Formats: sequence, structure tokens, C-alpha cells
Amino acid sequence: MKTIATIILTVVLTCVPFAPFERPEDIARSVAEINSLQALEPLQSSMVYICTGPESKRYHSNSNCRGLNKCSGSIEKVTVAKAKSMKRTPCKICYK
Ligand SMILES: [Zn+2]
Repeated sequence: MKTIATIILTVVLTCVPFAPFERPEDIARSVAEINSLQALEPLQSSMVYICTGPESKRYHSNSNCRGLNKCSGSIEKVTVAKAKSMKRTPCKICYK
């Protein structure tokens, strides 16, 4: 049974010339690529918290971080990319 199933699978797969990505190994590879992209993407687009006060040079993963307690301005939610573009560095308390 296993052999017949394998033959049928092979025939089906080789009879689909217009869809090279339908092959299981290709699908697996694209899924892995998509997953790795999705794994990277949140790092740049995920939201962080910054203090707008003049002394603040950090960004925080957590709005309750004690590094934000002494914030003299207001706390804003921005993307990591934006925080980095503002020359912010990760807070040492919430990014260990
Ligand atoms: Zn922090």
C-alpha cells in the first residue's frame, strides 16, 4: 500500500508542471522561509515604550518597567525601528 501511495504521489507531483512549489519539500522550504521572516519581522515592527523626557535614551519592552518610573516626559509607544532611529538603545532592565 505504501508503495502504491508513493507512486501515486510521485505521478501527481510530476504531473503538476505549472506549480513547482506544490512539491512538499518546496512547500516545507517556503514555510520555513516565511516563518523565519515572521520571526525577524516582529523585531523591527514590534512596539516598545519610550520616555519623551530629555534624559531618556532607552526604549523599553514593558510600559511598567521601572526604568520608565522616573520619566520626566510622557511615555510613548513606538516601533523598535522608530526607537532605534531616535538613537535609543535597549533598556538594561527589561532587555536582559
Ligand atoms: Zn526598561
